[in-house]
Amino acid sequence: MPSTYRKTTSQRSAFGGRRRNYRAAPKQNKRRQGQYIDPARFVKAARPVEAEQYEATHRFSDFAIHELLKQNLRAKGYETPSPIQDQTIPVALVGNDIIGIANTGTGKTAAFALPVLHQLIEDKHARALIIAPTRELAQQIEAEMKSIAKGSGLFGVLLIGGTNIGPQLRDLRLSPRVVIGTPGRIKDHLERKTLRLDTFKFAVLDEVDRMLDMGFLPDVTTIMNQLPAERQSLFFSATMDNKVQMLIENFANQPVAIKHKTSDTSDNVHQNVVRISSSSEKMDKLHDILIREEVEKIIVFDETQRSVERLSNELIARGFKADAIHGGKNQGQRQRALNRFKKSEINILVATDVAARGIDVKDITHVINYTVPQTYDDYTHRIGRAGRAGRIGHALTFISH
Ligand code: AMP
Repeated sequence: MPSTYRKTTSQRSAFGGRRRNYRAAPKQNKRRQGQYIDPARFVKAARPVEAEQYEATHRFSDFAIHELLKQNLRAKGYETPSPIQDQTIPVALVGNDIIGIANTGTGKTAAFALPVLHQLIEDKHARALIIAPTRELAQQIEAEMKSIAKGSGLFGVLLIGGTNIGPQLRDLRLSPRVVIGTPGRIKDHLERKTLRLDTFKFAVLDEVDRMLDMGFLPDVTTIMNQLPAERQSLFFSATMDNKVQMLIENFANQPVAIKHKTSDTSDNVHQNVVRISSSSEKMDKLHDILIREEVEKIIVFDETQRSVERLSNELIARGFKADAIHGGKNQGQRQRALNRFKKSEINILVATDVAARGIDVKDITHVINYTVPQTYDDYTHRIGRAGRAGRIGHALTFISH
């Protein structure tokens, strides 16, 4: 068995031509019923809130977790537990099911990874399944778990769509102790009988609200129903509405609720509109904005895969450093564009809503809505990409007269 918790999914080529391999992608071109949003709602000054002071009640050294995990945390520079970690880890370590209400950036990955990895080290037969709504989030979780589990000998596999299934099949034959994936690809493997869940003792569902938003309820239900009844389940969601609650009630066993939401990131974003009187003027207005000195790292949102591609090509033709990310690209292309953006090799990423979900790039200065989002909820998701890590961000929404 390979001796490290290693990345196993090839980024080489998309899997097969005919097989459907990513559930969320087809939705991107389907125009959802648009909601009328009063343009006044796109104008708002940032109201940065002081990060609330939280006194952690534990140090990592207090937790009854394996020494190796503590060492790896120190190597990662984690000194004190974040609030969600402080409250979740001790409760999860004694085996309770958990509902964690926490948004991205709160440290929720380590909050579930530490108790799960500790228990996997203790019980050599146990396995864990971690389900995330997007490929990007699944990859981020994998990277975080890999670094926390370094040197433990635990072996994990990443099951996401848009990548060659061959290496996944090979790694699954080695009985990985950790399986991280998106619902569509996990279900594919269940149908192929290349993955069986009857020996999985831990289940983590991350970003449950997004998972449901993206239409994954049937897949998640199928997957959860194949897990043994004797298990520990950890659910994380930024919001808790009826749908989320129903799913959790169906699959959790007397869960303990732990809530730590930071203020809405949109409070850190200056929001304004750009008025245009004709569509021919739109591109030039965008150009003018992009050459402003303070406009450093930008996500431009457009509606369809085709319009995103066209806009990105137009920007490149005008000499900008841009790339596009949308569901029509395979996972390798999406990851490459994202990495170039993260490393600032390009400073403009043109994206559709779904493709941009789960992207956590800390230094985005501007979000530009080249087309008005379909719903106000999409708007909030979009502009939350700026104003991360306590910085002030800017959001500009193009509005036709
Ligand atoms: P997450 O919400 O899990 O995506 O984590 C957000 C960011 O915080 C990631 O970059 C983590 O590496 C980092 N992080 C998580 N927990 C801690 C901690 N206790 N101390 C410092 N950084 C952390």
